[in-house]
Amino acid sequence: MFDKLLIANRGEIACRIIRTARRLGIATVAVYSDADRNALHVRMADEAVHIGPAPARESYLQAEHIIAAALATGAQAIHPGYGFLSENAGFARACTERGLVFVGPPSAAIEAMGSKAAAKHIMGEAGVPLVPGYHGANQEPVLLRQEAERMGYPVLLKATAGGGGKGMRQVWSGDEFDAALAAAQREASASFGDATMLVEKYLTRPRHVEVQVFCDNHGNAIYLAERDCSVQRRHQKVIEEAPAPGMTAALRDAMGTAAVQAARAIDYRGAGTVEFLLDEDGSYYFMEMNTRLQVEHPVTELITGQDLVEWQLRVAAGEELPLQQQDLTLRGHAFEARIYAEDPDNDFLPVTGTLAYLRAPDESSHVRVDTGVQQGDEISVHYDPMIAKLIVWDESRERALQRLSTALRDYRIGGTVTNLDFLYNLATADPFRRAELDTGFIERHQTLIFRQRQQDLQRDLPMAALALFLHRQQQAAPPGCLDPWSPWGSGTGWRLNEPHLHHVMLHCHQHDVNATLEPLARGGFSICIEGQHTELRGELRGDELVFEQDGHRRRATLACTTEGFTLYLADGACHFRELRPDTGETAQNAAAGGLNAPMNGTVVSLLVEPGSDVQAGAPLMIMEAMKMEHTIRAPGDGTVSQFYFAPGDLVDGGAPLLAFAASEDARA
Ligand code: ADP
Repeated sequence: MFDKLLIANRGEIACRIIRTARRLGIATVAVYSDADRNALHVRMADEAVHIGPAPARESYLQAEHIIAAALATGAQAIHPGYGFLSENAGFARACTERGLVFVGPPSAAIEAMGSKAAAKHIMGEAGVPLVPGYHGANQEPVLLRQEAERMGYPVLLKATAGGGGKGMRQVWSGDEFDAALAAAQREASASFGDATMLVEKYLTRPRHVEVQVFCDNHGNAIYLAERDCSVQRRHQKVIEEAPAPGMTAALRDAMGTAAVQAARAIDYRGAGTVEFLLDEDGSYYFMEMNTRLQVEHPVTELITGQDLVEWQLRVAAGEELPLQQQDLTLRGHAFEARIYAEDPDNDFLPVTGTLAYLRAPDESSHVRVDTGVQQGDEISVHYDPMIAKLIVWDESRERALQRLSTALRDYRIGGTVTNLDFLYNLATADPFRRAELDTGFIERHQTLIFRQRQQDLQRDLPMAALALFLHRQQQAAPPGCLDPWSPWGSGTGWRLNEPHLHHVMLHCHQHDVNATLEPLARGGFSICIEGQHTELRGELRGDELVFEQDGHRRRATLACTTEGFTLYLADGACHFRELRPDTGETAQNAAAGGLNAPMNGTVVSLLVEPGSDVQAGAPLMIMEAMKMEHTIRAPGDGTVSQFYFAPGDLVDGGAPLLAFAASEDARA
């Protein structure tokens, strides 16, 4: 086994690889860009080497810098993680040529799977079942259409160089064919510089089931069961699980054997994943092979009790596979949820921001959190906005799902928008519980999954008011006063024979609220909001809050960030901010906040002339962040007097973008 390993990656996967290397007694070298100088993976590694500026193409994709770092530090092997250079055959080859071990398959195996059409051809030859389709070189539109007609609609057009769902189009009838082909070709040329298409039968309700395979350099090859990754949005996985619900031993064996056959067909080594579409009738078809460790590998680890990174390192060091097929046992059920800084209500647009408050659920034999960030870290425009992977395990699917929803509720993130509520809604949706899975799941159950937490003003406003009051008191408490019974340390304002009222003003659920808190002699407060009285006790210790109402005690967490407060309750989070009487902060000013940059990014275009009158909702300018566009719209009728930025300018999140004057009528 090598004694020093360089990890050519960042974030959670770099941290996860370092953990295993450390357990095996292997020293670790991290690499980092300017943006990651203080990142967790850099702090965890034994050594770290700077490889360039923040943009990935100038740092994490610079093969030469990474190889130089390995040679300079005396690392003998490079683990590429996933993404970045992990499926770059040139990089794998360059490592080998420089005497470094690439922890992954030989470059020829990566190349063989690089084109979807070529991969299908190889798999067809090896006897692995394929979706009926045309994968030929002749790209005449007339011929492609004939092929589509021969297999029968619906069909799917796919870019052979494709990935991430780009260059893909469903075609439901002959009339649509030509237009769909042209659109898919345009997208494929723009994204991959290659418009070659394949045509295949479109399965209307398939599941995405993938098989984990492993091969060593001694002729051994096994499969480590399957993962069901059917729950996808925009062809991207959201929640993965293992084993696949409803999988029979016979089908597992058949799919596993086909996957091993696929790996053998390209003389594979190390960890790989063979993706299949599983049709309603139990037929399965090869889709593609990923020649690296997958994001969702932890669910396989939890049901097999194996550490797949350890297996990768052992195989790369020339050892035999730790287990043979018949020795592998499966136990229980595991889920993984990907937690992202993104806005599910805004088409999953990635969001940047500072993780001002971050509290993961406690880890145990049932709950695992793979992350690469800490409180205070920034989610920047430069990299994938994943915050963490939450992985849970239990004896049955039902119990594991229960673990998942509880852990999602216990995950507390403040300072940026996340998909936590979306994941929670998904995990608790009845059809998901019943495992009615297929790749159209999210689309079909939109209303169930995108539902917002019920706003309950009666419930939330008094709690928010009390939380704010207790927070203020905590800030003002004399630091030396530790005696909880001392009257000098008490800030309740309770006085003998003389009620003393406290006032707090806050903005919560789009309401400006003026609350009065009257301390009660028997403890707690009577909280008055718009004439409604609520009796509530509360105690705040650090950020842990306990409320009591009519003898019912509930726990909550209060997170305080520069944006305001978030009160995390058992049934969801409630956001609010303090209004101070003298700042003149009104609802109108808050609406104008919509003209600030929603994230760090670049100005793409200005859509109106300065001085133009516009109507409410009119698009004013377009910003881009993380390769996605975001439109800034007029908050009301009015005039745009000036833009503060020009196309191409870089803008910090929160910066004012333009001067806007609401029209007289709108103000009246
Ligand atoms: P990419 O490499 O762009 O991610 P894939 O070939 O892996 O594309 O397919 C991505 C997803 O598209 C699959 O997980 C599945 O949901 C859907 N898909 C692919 N091929 C078919 C098909 N023939 N019928 C139905 N859905 C498909």
